[in-house]
Amino acid sequence: MDHEDLRHWSKRAADWAAEYHAGLRDRAVRAPLLPGAVSSQLPAAAPEAAEPMEAIWDDFVRIIPGAMTHWQHPRFFAYFPANASPASMLAEQLANAMAAQGMLWQTSPAATEVEQAMIGWLAGALGLPGDFTGTIHDSATTATLSAVLTMREKALDWQGLAQGLSGQPRLRLYASAETHSSVDKAARVAGIGQDNLVKVATDAGLSMKPGALAGAISADRDAGFVPAGVILCAGGTSVGAFDRIADCIAVAHAEGLPVHVDAAWAGSAMICPEFRHLWAGIEAADSIVFNPHKWLGAQFDCAVQFLRDPGPQVRTLGLRPSYLETAGREDIVNFNEWTVPLGRRFRALKLWFTLRAYGLDGLRARIRNHVAWAAEVCDVLRAMPEITIITEPSLSLFTFALTSDAATEALLARINDDGRIYLTQTRHQGRSVIRVQVGQFDCTREDVMAVPEVVAELMQT
Ligand SMILES: *Cc1c(COP(=O)(O)O)cnc(C)c1O
Repeated sequence: MDHEDLRHWSKRAADWAAEYHAGLRDRAVRAPLLPGAVSSQLPAAAPEAAEPMEAIWDDFVRIIPGAMTHWQHPRFFAYFPANASPASMLAEQLANAMAAQGMLWQTSPAATEVEQAMIGWLAGALGLPGDFTGTIHDSATTATLSAVLTMREKALDWQGLAQGLSGQPRLRLYASAETHSSVDKAARVAGIGQDNLVKVATDAGLSMKPGALAGAISADRDAGFVPAGVILCAGGTSVGAFDRIADCIAVAHAEGLPVHVDAAWAGSAMICPEFRHLWAGIEAADSIVFNPHKWLGAQFDCAVQFLRDPGPQVRTLGLRPSYLETAGREDIVNFNEWTVPLGRRFRALKLWFTLRAYGLDGLRARIRNHVAWAAEVCDVLRAMPEITIITEPSLSLFTFALTSDAATEALLARINDDGRIYLTQTRHQGRSVIRVQVGQFDCTREDVMAVPEVVAELMQT
């Protein structure tokens, strides 16, 4: 296959893609398959001889789409969305065509400078102060790890980087039990240890209690630990919990601790001013992560980390061996020094396309619809006698359950085998519950109203 063939097949792929998206409502959202269904159709070894693209294409059409879970399906209400706006897909195709590696400014000036511009556009769109800078990671997990590594080094007065952690004091991190498991992973990978991630008590509204945070920090200091930082949650994954950002940051900063806020899902909603009260006080955070690849429409992968001062993170993650130097240029940003990996994709291009093709107004209209439709669906389900709403809508996420865990789990299995909609589960306060999140880029009110319809029908079977 050469570049002329690529031209031909790209056009075929574009036609296939358009038909795929137009036909999504006719497909089961989750592939109705058992494990091994795909691997059993693949040869055990790579071919020795080149195969014609026609044969590869035919196998793709025959094996792959029917074995996918369709994340762009308008009736995908599981997990959180991974929205790919059409404009974002187009930008990804162009980034793929250039296939650049943007580790340094000079390895792709446009990748660096568009990324800087998009961080500025997004900070403005979310109502953050103009002095936030930031960078784009592959995932919120990596952004949170970067923030935690920086907390570690700040607490160790930058000794861990060279000496390692052996012989260092035992560090502590603080988060509520509503924060995502990526915080636990960061504690593990950073060498702080999961046992040193203190899960601070929450109040009835599932927000971290500022007084409990202050108490945990001071008890740890008395016991000889070294507190390193606080991770707050703005839109938890399980049921959408929000910490009281202003109060908790005030406690952390009074103790001299940096704060990272995980808004991976809910951050996108902050383009709507009416939701910003949920993270009031955010302007004091040291680091914030949000995933435009979830709700905003800049497709996976695209996780934005805002930083009040990039200095400590660059000091933690940045290395500049001679083969990565740019002679005579001190006035540039080399984004690899802000992140864990060296190599980086041109992720900012899809933000540029998405923000321009829909405008903030178009994106706000979608998010406002999702929030309104989630409230509407929640009320329809609430009116069904068998159903209890377990957590009220947090933005566009709520949970419900039947009278027993077994009944709830059996209903969920029936829903997902049916395939018209896709929902997922979590545990909340010891109970098995079904999550409903509304957020797919192309979903309509009618798609959302399929949720109570399917639930009511399958509860009777
Ligand atoms: C999805 C999610 C994450 C993890 O996101 P990745 O980008 O997949 O690492 C972290 N925190 C919250 C609150 C999330 O919803």
